[in-house]
Amino acid sequence: MAFDGITLALSKGRIFEDTLPLLAAAGITPIDDPEKSRKLIIDTNRPDVRLVIVRASDTPTYVQYGAADLGIAGKDVLIEHGGAGLYQPLDLKIARCRMCVAVPKGFDYAAAVQRGARIRVATKYMQTARDHFASKGVHVDLIKLYGSMELAPLVGLADAIVDLVSSGGTLRANNLVEVEEIMAISSRLVVNQASLKMKHALLQPVIDAFAGVVK
Ligand code: ATP
Ligand code: MG
Repeated sequence: MAFDGITLALSKGRIFEDTLPLLAAAGITPIDDPEKSRKLIIDTNRPDVRLVIVRASDTPTYVQYGAADLGIAGKDVLIEHGGAGLYQPLDLKIARCRMCVAVPKGFDYAAAVQRGARIRVATKYMQTARDHFASKGVHVDLIKLYGSMELAPLVGLADAIVDLVSSGGTLRANNLVEVEEIMAISSRLVVNQASLKMKHALLQPVIDAFAGVVK
């Protein structure tokens, strides 16, 4: 039952797909495709490496507590988590997008900020949004959502949203415009600090192989 190899936490979708070339460089090939299989523990060609499939926002938690030795998580997710117990050796430059403020076309965000109005902002990224508006001295009421933030301004739940954008297609489709970029986002490798010491001989070559691809 006990597994004494290394466990890598990944989320399905873009992070999994963008990680495959990194795994290949480390000589690791998953045996199953998480999009097709319902298995949450996925073996690889290497008996000493397995993958666990988790919700993107749960990756730092699995690694923090050592249930996974390492994982790949977006900067957005890491900021919300706080990063406790995590060593973050590499920006993998995958799953790139940006965190931004968006409003409905026709909402004069600059004027609202200028006159010191309280702005209602819907977001899944409470910490990032709080820090951003506090640093600008903008008064906001934050409304926590878990997804589909674009809907909130359309039905009067909020004046603005803080969300991730890549192509801008979803914003355009919902008559929203980006008014502020908060930060560029990409995914990082996170490693459990105890694992790094205890399983150094297994982990370091994987970290090095990933680093070789990123350069
Ligand atoms: P879910 O979609 O299951 O609610 P999630 O949005 O947290 O969860 P993904 O959509 O798989 O999970 O996103 C994972 C990571 O990929 C995010 O944390 C972010 O860093 C990055 N990401 C999110 N949206 C985009 C995007 N449109 N383009 C590129 N990268 C993105
Ligand atoms: Mg998503």
